[in-house]
Amino acid sequence: MNAVRAFIGGEWLEISGVEKTPVYNPSRGEIIAEVPACTKEHVDLAVEAAAAAFPAWRDTPAVERARLFFRYRQLVEENFDRICQSVSREHGKTLAESRGSAYRGIENIEYACSVPTLLMGDTLENLARGVDCETMLQPLGVCVGITPFNFPAMVPMWMFPLALACGNTFILKPSEKVPLTALLIIELLEKAGLPKGVLNVVPGGRESVDALLTHPKVKAISFVGSSPVAKYIYETGTRHGKRVQANGGAKNYVVVMPDADVQRTVEALSTAAFGCAGERCMAGSTAIAVGKAAERVLPTLVEAARAIKVGPTDVAKSEPDMGPVITAQHRDRVFSLVESGEKEGAKIIADGRGVKVPDAPNGFFMGATIVDQVQDGMTIAREEVFGPVLNVMRADDVDQAIAMANKSAYGNGASIFTNSGKAAREFKNRVKAGMVGINIGVPATMAMFPFTGWEESFYGYLHIQGKEGVQFYTQQKVVSTRWFGEGVGDVWKK
Ligand code: NAD
Repeated sequence: MNAVRAFIGGEWLEISGVEKTPVYNPSRGEIIAEVPACTKEHVDLAVEAAAAAFPAWRDTPAVERARLFFRYRQLVEENFDRICQSVSREHGKTLAESRGSAYRGIENIEYACSVPTLLMGDTLENLARGVDCETMLQPLGVCVGITPFNFPAMVPMWMFPLALACGNTFILKPSEKVPLTALLIIELLEKAGLPKGVLNVVPGGRESVDALLTHPKVKAISFVGSSPVAKYIYETGTRHGKRVQANGGAKNYVVVMPDADVQRTVEALSTAAFGCAGERCMAGSTAIAVGKAAERVLPTLVEAARAIKVGPTDVAKSEPDMGPVITAQHRDRVFSLVESGEKEGAKIIADGRGVKVPDAPNGFFMGATIVDQVQDGMTIAREEVFGPVLNVMRADDVDQAIAMANKSAYGNGASIFTNSGKAAREFKNRVKAGMVGINIGVPATMAMFPFTGWEESFYGYLHIQGKEGVQFYTQQKVVSTRWFGEGVGDVWKK
């Protein structure tokens, strides 16, 4: 059995004498590793290691820190297939999906490579007579990243490259469901020449998280996961004086106008709803069909959903279109949400619940499912499903569609498919979501832009990625300087 190790102070440590939870290959339903529940004691060691490494790391010139990330980028490229196979094995994404998401991670490393420019401050000569003023961006100290199961490589890479490049030290607490890829990408960082203690990994669950949230030497916490936990992390972390950015869950609406291009809309909607088996915080999980859009788009969409080939993602050949969901328990939850929709009056027009995968009978599979005639107030309309399920709602016009989308408690993404500039403009300006797509199904932002969730999709102020990421991982200092021209020992004038 592969025992997941901790990485503390540059040493890989076997953790014994604690509870262990299984890590599954969801394509087979098999246990592939065990992850230890690190305790406060392990967290204390990791924080001490990160705090001890901070002074030398913060004084390492930004260009040298950036060079380390150039080397790291190269190593990640060289090991790209291994990383993607690991993501597919422990998460269940298809290899194509793993590659796409790992590339989003690489873009974050590339962004971190530009840190010497990103850290440059402003200056103003003669703020007052003889006084100059400048701003400096300085690192915070020990930062923490707590990550979810659905992007084992990408989400950690949203965090540690930029945090470290800015001069902080870091502790990563990966999801206990997918810790293997996290360890692989950290091994490569060690190979790139990261000094001991600058980054530490503490596997585990709630106990390790609580110890990190309350440790007096931790300065900042980046979190990505479900909204109830995001809220808890934000409240607990800020109560203990930490800077917190906490990304939560989502329910993203895709408005389809009657003039939308049918083929392109179906392709985009199908990828948005069923890509990564719907386990994406940017999944387009509810389509709002406006006017005649339903009769134009739904028949082709149902056909597309039924054609999606489900299968194991841990094989080199005959890649399926869609892999399993993360655990049997999660699949049962998705099934029960679909059932609740049925009971509350919705119609299942594509049903993936009975899907059979003969070459992987124990995998956690479910086929693409479309739940039509979903009404406000139904359980499935409110709750994040996080599976390959698309809800369909109906609206009379764009105003009603926007009003329906804006009732959501979340606010991550929202998209519109239309050929009308006017409808798109109204939607863009009025929809209550931080990331908007116009004829784009998944408007997830790339490394140079912040990942701007709103409402219950985000707790905090400065978002992950882009310039906001740099601001989050640094504190600003304003220095005002005056030099007196004359005095004892003055060397200025002859
Ligand atoms: P989760 O909230 O269950 O777990 C996330 C992390 O928090 C894990 O590391 C876990 O160990 C830890 N955790 C879980 N419960 C905890 C508790 N009670 N106290 C302290 N720590 C706890 O999320 P998940 O199931 O791993 O991931 C899926 C969720 O993440 C979905 O809701 C999805 O929308 C969301 N997500 C959001 C974004 C975004 O950017 N907004 C991106 C990816 C995923």
